[in-house]
Amino acid sequence: MSIEDKECSQCGEKKPLSDFYKQKINQCKVCRNAVISKWRLKNREKLLQQMRNNNKQWYRENKDRAKEKQSKYAKQNKSSVNAKEAQRRAMQLKLTPSWADKNEISMFYEVAEVLSRSGAKFHVDHIVPLQGRKVWGFHSQHNLQVIPAYKNMEKGNKHEAN
Ligand SMILES: [Zn+2]
Repeated sequence: MSIEDKECSQCGEKKPLSDFYKQKINQCKVCRNAVISKWRLKNREKLLQQMRNNNKQWYRENKDRAKEKQSKYAKQNKSSVNAKEAQRRAMQLKLTPSWADKNEISMFYEVAEVLSRSGAKFHVDHIVPLQGRKVWGFHSQHNLQVIPAYKNMEKGNKHEAN
């Protein structure tokens, strides 16, 4: 064992510092990764459950309205949807900050996908729009929410800074 070695508080093994992410964290990379993925799994479940509960109530209250709005929107906007989507994706790439957590971001999309299986469509929405007129939001975990699709369509890009 050299001076550079450090004991992991989780597995108790002595490992070189390069096996640790940071000086301050006393768990080796292997243990740290296990903790993080466990945390992610737990949080994904929590977020999903939360969304499911909201969804159930929302769906009961708005069932017919949602279906009607969705099909109406799809009919009116078929051609422009793809172009808009492509543009949006390009914007997202430029507005993803270095500190954005790709795993957390993908969690929102997974949740929207799972919720959409119940019949009503759900979208991942940028709380502050990427292409607002006055403010530009980031594509990051802090600026995302899962909302019923029709609400997202209503919102469009009209949102302004309050
Ligand atoms: Zn360890």
